[in-house]
Amino acid sequence: MKIYLNGKLVPEAEAKVSVFDHGLLYGDGVFEGIRVYNGRVFMLWAHIERLYRSAQAIALKIPLSKPALTAAVIRTCRANNIRDGYVRLVVTRGVGTLGLNPFTCRKPGVIVIAAKIQLYPPKLYAQGLRVVTAGTLRNHTEAISPNIKSLNYLNNILAKIEAINAGVEEVIMLNPQGFVAEASGDNIFIIRGNELLTPPISCGTLEGITRNVVMELARQNGLDVREAVLTRYDLYNADEMFLTGTAAEIISVIEMDARAIGRGKPGAKTMELGARFHAFAEENGTLIK
Ligand code: PMP
Repeated sequence: MKIYLNGKLVPEAEAKVSVFDHGLLYGDGVFEGIRVYNGRVFMLWAHIERLYRSAQAIALKIPLSKPALTAAVIRTCRANNIRDGYVRLVVTRGVGTLGLNPFTCRKPGVIVIAAKIQLYPPKLYAQGLRVVTAGTLRNHTEAISPNIKSLNYLNNILAKIEAINAGVEEVIMLNPQGFVAEASGDNIFIIRGNELLTPPISCGTLEGITRNVVMELARQNGLDVREAVLTRYDLYNADEMFLTGTAAEIISVIEMDARAIGRGKPGAKTMELGARFHAFAEENGTLIK
């Protein structure tokens, strides 16, 4: 595998960063996870835009223009013959001193990895997931905004540990006000009658790119799509529930906190949306060749 590291494609074994990189020392940096379907990078420009917004929020200047970074992603996919895969784009604060001051880091590090990902085993896409509510609250938006896709994912990792300890696949995270925010690394949706509901960004939800695509496809499919502040009560009483994310794609939730959701199996509307999403993803994206 060839890795893009600061302007060069290097063999995997040579793709190394310094122990003084603040990305490692403090989780000081930003990233994106991007899918490649059918030889096309899906929603590449939206991911690039979100990366720059995350960087701006942490006062990190990415040392490349947006078109140059876009070209670096394409170049890395091409070098690794990726037709269907997953790209991890990382910008670290760079090498600095042992103190917190980020401005001792003169040169941000830019990394592109083009590889594969399988988030959940295929059978879970047919069967659906079981989830529990996490005790770990989603970060307060004014402490560290969940919209900064930063290299510090401990908030999410602590929640994910709770899922594993509970013997289920995922957790639902609440915000400090007790409203539903998102799963550990995915957005959440419920279907109620003909309505498709998802928490607004102000609830401490990352503005997922898959979320936005799914909302648009659902609208085209005749569902009444809106953002709504949701409680656990709303989730327990949903007809259908599913998660969305670049890596997870669309996956049904069939049980939450030991309550069956809907009929306790993946719902028809969710499956239909999943099929539409895959058809859309196969046809849309930035061509690698
Ligand atoms: N929420 C969190 C916390 C995430 O890390 C992600 C990305 N894995 C998502 C939601 C989904 O966002 P996207 O659809 O852009 O991948």
